[in-house]
Amino acid sequence: MPYCPNCKTEYTENDFCIHCGAVLHEKKLQCKAHSARGAVAVCVLCHRPLCSDCANKRDSRFFCNDHEKVEVEEDWALVFQSVDFFEAAIVRSKLEGYGISVSAQNEHSIAYLGFMDTPIGRTNLEHPVKFFVPFDQYLLASQLLAEDEKL
Ligand SMILES: [Zn+2]
Ligand SMILES: [Zn+2]
Ligand SMILES: [Zn+2]
Repeated sequence: MPYCPNCKTEYTENDFCIHCGAVLHEKKLQCKAHSARGAVAVCVLCHRPLCSDCANKRDSRFFCNDHEKVEVEEDWALVFQSVDFFEAAIVRSKLEGYGISVSAQNEHSIAYLGFMDTPIGRTNLEHPVKFFVPFDQYLLASQLLAEDEKL
């Protein structure tokens, strides 16, 4: 199988690399904001085509302006974080209910550190629960969570 010239990961047939967003077959994609310009990449999270001016490159991955600041770990993107352990549990079951894979950081109780697991305790320790989802499920996950905020 061929390798992506940007991130050196193997890829299957596609117009862009799903790991970093680099466009693999030039000419096919136009920048969403500048239709006269060819896209050099797509945002790894929303797949919006980006020209060299629109693309934000971070750790060899490409992001649009909306997703430039999203924290990522390998092919996973941070979709939720909270110092509220119980809120996090609700969010996890919601995401999983929609078939979204969740990779968590700091999800274990902080009680083992000698602290009550409270939002204040977690804030003081800078120890929020963090949920990462696969790149291709990021948009769905963030839409689901945005719906909750409106209620
Ligand atoms: Zn790549
Ligand atoms: Zn994006
Ligand atoms: Zn552009």
